[in-house]
Amino acid sequence: MIRLTCGDLRAIKAAAEDAYPMEACGLLVGSLTEDGVYDVARIVPSRNLAAEQTGRKDRFEIDPKLRFDVMRACEGSGEAIIGHYHSHPDHPAAPSKTDFSMAWDADFVWVIVAVPKGKAGAVTAHVLEGVPEGVPEGVPEGVPDGAAKAFREIPLAAHG
Ligand SMILES: [Zn+2]
Repeated sequence: MIRLTCGDLRAIKAAAEDAYPMEACGLLVGSLTEDGVYDVARIVPSRNLAAEQTGRKDRFEIDPKLRFDVMRACEGSGEAIIGHYHSHPDHPAAPSKTDFSMAWDADFVWVIVAVPKGKAGAVTAHVLEGVPEGVPEGVPEGVPDGAAKAFREIPLAAHG
């Protein structure tokens, strides 16, 4: 399960609508509890470098400098980057083929918000399973396809 505040959920939806028809994206900061709950303490919106650089409406790339800065800021705080969110303009709130090929981090939650016709709709959360041992974090080059990885949807609970 992933837990976040109603305010953060609203902010994700608002960012998704603002970015339309491009994808919005950002980081989820918090902790993974002992009972396996992704507890989001805050969200950190990012520029979408892929949209800026390619103009494509079906790609996102979180600013690596932002990711690095947030990682550094989390050091010693008990918090970490536990996932990210992005939007799917005019596509369902399910991981796309592109998402699948970009996904190699286990213990990382993907939040996806559908934005049909510019209005934020369904929001879903997914974790990756079956990532082979020894695959480094990030998006490694040349990792062979055919690993048994798969996305699994997990419940999303908004509170507060
Ligand atoms: Zn996607």
